[in-house]
Amino acid sequence: MKAVVVTPKEPNSGRVQEVPTPEPASDQALVEVIEVGICGTDLEILAGDYGEAPPGDDYLILGHENFGRVANAPEGSGLEPGDHVVSIVRRPDPVPCPQCAAGEFDMCSNGLYTERGIKGLHGFMSEFYTERPEYLVKLPDSLADVGVLMEPLTVVEKGVLQAQDIQRRMTWTPKEAVVTGAGPIGLMATLLLRSKGYEVFTLDILDRDHPRAKIVAECGAEYVKGDEEPLAKLAERIDGIDLMVEATAVPQIVFDSIDAVGPNGVVCLTGVSARGRSLDVPADMLNLEMVLDNKVVFGTVNANRRYFAAGVEDLTRFEELWPGLVRRMITRRSPVDSFEEALKREDDDVKTTVSFAAPESR
Ligand code: BGC
Repeated sequence: MKAVVVTPKEPNSGRVQEVPTPEPASDQALVEVIEVGICGTDLEILAGDYGEAPPGDDYLILGHENFGRVANAPEGSGLEPGDHVVSIVRRPDPVPCPQCAAGEFDMCSNGLYTERGIKGLHGFMSEFYTERPEYLVKLPDSLADVGVLMEPLTVVEKGVLQAQDIQRRMTWTPKEAVVTGAGPIGLMATLLLRSKGYEVFTLDILDRDHPRAKIVAECGAEYVKGDEEPLAKLAERIDGIDLMVEATAVPQIVFDSIDAVGPNGVVCLTGVSARGRSLDVPADMLNLEMVLDNKVVFGTVNANRRYFAAGVEDLTRFEELWPGLVRRMITRRSPVDSFEEALKREDDDVKTTVSFAAPESR
């Protein structure tokens, strides 16, 4: 079968290659891939900065933002041929650590976890893959056109649900949320927080008529042009930001977020900054604010099954609240043979995908 593969740590080694079609074991389902999204992590792997092949292989099948259809599944698994599914990305470490043993492998504490398409396991950018049903999440057919956005949504689900958990430390009645960055993660955070009733302000430096700025406005959030109203000014206007979701990974904005969040507020960091950047920060002032205002800053990565379940409910709700809006985040779908097209980032792109099935066959 065809697959998009890389030689890990070798820059620009991405290519389409014939690889053996996997044979499902008796406890595995066989899934036909429909499409796979491209994200920053994939670009890092393609640049040779990140990524690890499965033991014994000299290549890694790329791709973790997956969407497919069950070809066959073990009896009693709850899955039927034709079901639309998304696979969870991470697998528990073999020890396992207490978190992995409890199914919370997104919180793995010894770093020995594996991730499909990223670390030690093949990904989904191939015509088929096999997987145990416990790692497959069923999606209603009504989400077939947007199902590829489920994985990035789950990362945001985790961030927001964990922020709520953290805030159980007090009586929390949040009203205003600020999202920095209107990329796919920032837009998902915007939609999720709007759907939960927050007043949302999403900041980026794009023009107001940019497709991403329009998605922000159309779900009822306010698009803030950061070069006209920087975060510090926005924080003065709002006066008491309850929750910040930082999705730019720009070091300056990360630290500005700690300053900007209001008393008792929480900052959720979702991005990984490019390496080799250092910054002078007013550490004394930030420490003072964090202490005197009870601020919390936390990072979030990956998602376990719980967040995928929440993601299915919320993606369904987004479609009801704003029909067709989420679909606009998928700006280009490139067939596997021209997968390089999906790696290029045009100015008005939000999410590009590599597709394995004709659109009418979804
Ligand atoms: C994926 C996560 C993964 C992380 C680190 C992200 O792009 O969405 O599932 O844990 O990369 O490898």
